[in-house]
Amino acid sequence: MSQPLLFRNVEVDGGPVDVRVERGLVSRICDSGRGDVEAAQVIDGVGGALLPGLVDHHVHLLATAAARASVDVSGPSGLADLSDLAGEGWVRAVGARHELTKDDLDAVSRDRPIRVQHRSGALWTLNSAGLDAVSRSGGPRSLTRRQKETGQLWRADDQLRTLLPSSGLPDLVSLGRDLLTRGVTAVSDATPALDAAARTVLGDALPQRIMSMGDAGDGPRKVVVADHELPPLNTLVSTFVDVHRAGRAVALHCVTRESLVLAVVALREAGSHPGDRIEHAAVCDDDVAALMADLGVVVVTQPSLVRQRGDDYLADCAPQDRPWLWRHAGLLAAGVPVALSSDAPYGDVDPWRAIATAVDRTTISGAVLGADEGVSPLRALNAMLTPPDDPGGRPRTIREGVAADLCLLARPLAHMLADPASTMVAATVIGGEVLFRRPGWACASDPPG
Ligand SMILES: [Zn+2]
Repeated sequence: MSQPLLFRNVEVDGGPVDVRVERGLVSRICDSGRGDVEAAQVIDGVGGALLPGLVDHHVHLLATAAARASVDVSGPSGLADLSDLAGEGWVRAVGARHELTKDDLDAVSRDRPIRVQHRSGALWTLNSAGLDAVSRSGGPRSLTRRQKETGQLWRADDQLRTLLPSSGLPDLVSLGRDLLTRGVTAVSDATPALDAAARTVLGDALPQRIMSMGDAGDGPRKVVVADHELPPLNTLVSTFVDVHRAGRAVALHCVTRESLVLAVVALREAGSHPGDRIEHAAVCDDDVAALMADLGVVVVTQPSLVRQRGDDYLADCAPQDRPWLWRHAGLLAAGVPVALSSDAPYGDVDPWRAIATAVDRTTISGAVLGADEGVSPLRALNAMLTPPDDPGGRPRTIREGVAADLCLLARPLAHMLADPASTMVAATVIGGEVLFRRPGWACASDPPG
């Protein structure tokens, strides 16, 4: 059980207060200097804001941890980064900007097995050495003829897992620590195939509170509406009805105009359920937004993808889709609640950069994608403070009796919102325990003795 903890002189709702934490809960809030001064642990906030911990409403934890141990080929040098890697055995790379083939990777190396993931997450490409290694481990029939010819394995994570040598678990502990340094205290894992065993592994390794959208999860159930091969309407309707009957909401992955329209029409047919949500809604015009508002669904969107891929969208997307990309303000105006998330590893894990991009809508090159879709910094922050099980609902606040999942900033909130940056997170608390303090942050102090 955590020791009583006292935050002195922190900013909550604009005022300087002291906040006492006991048994994992916020137990008392009073004007600064007016309440008890004794506690096992005292943190002097010197006027920095104390916020509820941030929630990443859509992330893939295992894939994010694995990506941190992979070569990122999304940069301008691309596959060239793979050609002279030290070591031996499999090379794992992520972030490919194009749908690669075996030949592309054979040009890098014919000897060392390589696998590269497309940045969408839907495609792995293997070189000839990689295909040979997989065939050896799984037998000649382990790959289809088409897979052997092209080196392309589409949506084949489960197949690959059985064919590749187990490299053990990725480093989830350091991912959890990284999220703490950014003030994240809860995450919603959006991986459909996350089973109960993997869910347990995540819970053991990460300090954050975790909700799973997996088949065996406790949150809404993720349904991928595959845009490259749209499912029949009836199939979707009966899937939604079944999920709802089992007492769960649906979380619908929709990244094209067509898949979103189909999902919304199917949901109307099936009837919506509290907690139903749309992931991404990357292309959404006003008519579809109005239908979503009627259904009461929430959109969980990713400003990090505006930043990282916005330049490509501007260059490649159909002109008629351009006004409707990765909307935020327009959805709110239509009556559709919006929550923010990272979609890491496909987007940047940093929530503060997501908040900055939700405001300025600026891509890496400095272009602006949908200036009208920007929201105020406070609205963007609030979209990461809503509860995991109610992503479009009321932002959590700090009051007596709530769980002590907290993010202390080194400065007042107005400073952070003017220029959001993770480096301004001074401490992170989950369930009343201080799990992160920024090294060198001088204002944190324990009572002597
Ligand atoms: Zn995702």
